[in-house]
Amino acid sequence: MKAMTDAHPESHDAPSQAAPAPSSFLRDQIAEDVRTKKYGDAIVQTRFPPEPNGYLHIGHAKAICIDFGLADEFGGKTNLRFDDTNPEKEEQEYVDSIQQDVRWLGFQWDRLCYASDYFPQLYEWALQLIKAGKAYVDDLSADEIRRHRGTLTEPGTDSPFRSRSVEENLDLFTRMKAGEFPDGSRVLRAKIDMASPNLNMRDPVMYRILHATHQRTGDAWCIYPMYDYAHGQSDSIERVTHSMCTLEFADHQPLYRWFIEQLGIFPSQQIEFDRLNITYTLLSKRKLLQLVNEKRVSAWDDPRMPTLSGLRRRGFTSEAIRAFVAASGVSRTNGSTDVEMLEHFQRDDLNRRASRAMAVLHPLKLVIDNYPEGPNTDQVEFVEVANNPEDPSAGTRRVPFSREIYIEQDDFREVPPPKYYRLSPGKEVRLRNAYFVTAHSVVKDEAGDIIEVHCTYDPASRGGNSPDGRKVKSTMHWVSAAHAISAEIRLYDKLFLKPDPSDVAEGQDVLDNLNPNSVEILLTAKLEPSLANAKLEDRFQFERVGYFCLDPDSSPGNLVFNRTLPLKDSWAKEQKKAPLHGADAR
Ligand code: ATP
Ligand code: MG
Repeated sequence: MKAMTDAHPESHDAPSQAAPAPSSFLRDQIAEDVRTKKYGDAIVQTRFPPEPNGYLHIGHAKAICIDFGLADEFGGKTNLRFDDTNPEKEEQEYVDSIQQDVRWLGFQWDRLCYASDYFPQLYEWALQLIKAGKAYVDDLSADEIRRHRGTLTEPGTDSPFRSRSVEENLDLFTRMKAGEFPDGSRVLRAKIDMASPNLNMRDPVMYRILHATHQRTGDAWCIYPMYDYAHGQSDSIERVTHSMCTLEFADHQPLYRWFIEQLGIFPSQQIEFDRLNITYTLLSKRKLLQLVNEKRVSAWDDPRMPTLSGLRRRGFTSEAIRAFVAASGVSRTNGSTDVEMLEHFQRDDLNRRASRAMAVLHPLKLVIDNYPEGPNTDQVEFVEVANNPEDPSAGTRRVPFSREIYIEQDDFREVPPPKYYRLSPGKEVRLRNAYFVTAHSVVKDEAGDIIEVHCTYDPASRGGNSPDGRKVKSTMHWVSAAHAISAEIRLYDKLFLKPDPSDVAEGQDVLDNLNPNSVEILLTAKLEPSLANAKLEDRFQFERVGYFCLDPDSSPGNLVFNRTLPLKDSWAKEQKKAPLHGADAR
């Protein structure tokens, strides 16, 4: 009952604009309801209600964290409910992926529910509303209904079928259910108020005729409830006390309440919060489906997708996503969160957990002419390296070092530009955890490109420090050529070029904002041999390069690594700068 003592009921009544950071208005509301026993001794019951018409994205993660997190905090329960009222767009594949993603995020539902399980009850309630004179069968076409609906400034007009008798309505509705009429020929509408200032209350459609096979109920039904008719009653059936959803449903709330009041059933209450929007990121299942269908990405779990399965495949962790969602907060107005903030939380998490490894993405051969000094040119030695300097318990590993190694092409310049401290002729650098080397000469191919750099090493600098205390300005990663494994590396960048991907000129669509260079594939990377044992769940920091994980496309001897993120954290830098700006302004 800690939550009760933490409650701040006074902030609940305060106008939202008066609260500078209304980050806990949901929690405050629940705490208040628990304190006043609004639902008697009933537990706090929430639900996460996805429509199985696509894969979950990171926006859904916010709703999941709120629904499950708040119920948990108050000792309540959360159902996973599929709002599966639209058989034409829904699939079992989506049902399965949604369950997998909720679990991956770290949550376990109490009951697994389906709106389709309530079809018989919803139908009975429709009959009840007809009998009470609160619903009628309308023969107008969808277009005509739209035209009769009016606008925000003009009231709607009654359908000529609005005054049908209860008997006629009952007869027609049962025959709709029996399959006597073609798709689109009739609908059942609630009889509320065609002049209501809220368009949702202007006799909304409750049922439509649709001869479609449903993934769960098969051909049992040829009429299907509209989402707006099913949603509130589904909450009520499950005795959901706090039905939290995003702001776009606020205008629907009076309608959900109206159904519940007419039927005299459990009064679930809806509370709205802001949608998570992230810059450079598209969070709409409909539009993400378009990317998949038009093959702009490989699948729903393409690592560039903001879906939970895509982020997972990219190497994002559920811990980081939850921490990010918590830090981005909840509000009563929609806003937008910088994608760099998400990346910052992910880097922070990976910095703690990722094993360090060496991988050379663009290899250049470095030959150590004086190694070894003996006659045996196959000599190998092993250097002992910490797996994670942030976590001594991660242990150490032994990395082979030999006469020929690979370094990054970028780490050598035959003619170094100003302030270039990496390797160049005559310059000494440190090979990480190994030795100091000094470059002497290069070998070029016919095209004049450098294919080999020759250097000498200082055997006294083993481990990466020279006994005479001389300093070098650069430390480079490397991989022993004879021991290196090859791998395919996939480097990802933003999928969209604009902060708001939906910001398009007239006649264009979001696809016109796609970044044509959102993935770069490298086929010649050389990796330290320990990476041959990488597992899908492992996370790596390739030193100086970025965070990586194994892709499921990998097979033994044919490894593929995805770059989760490069190392640079621009968001953390900006955050550090921000207070300075504030001080300057004063
Ligand atoms: P989309 O627009 O991507 O299709 P949706 O709202 O139609 O999303 P649903 O399956 O209906 O998807 O969503 C399930 C729940 O997730 C709803 O309660 C919805 O409010 C919530 N949700 C969806 N998108 C977001 C988001 N971007 N931020 C927070 N919650 C969201
Ligand atoms: Mg929806």
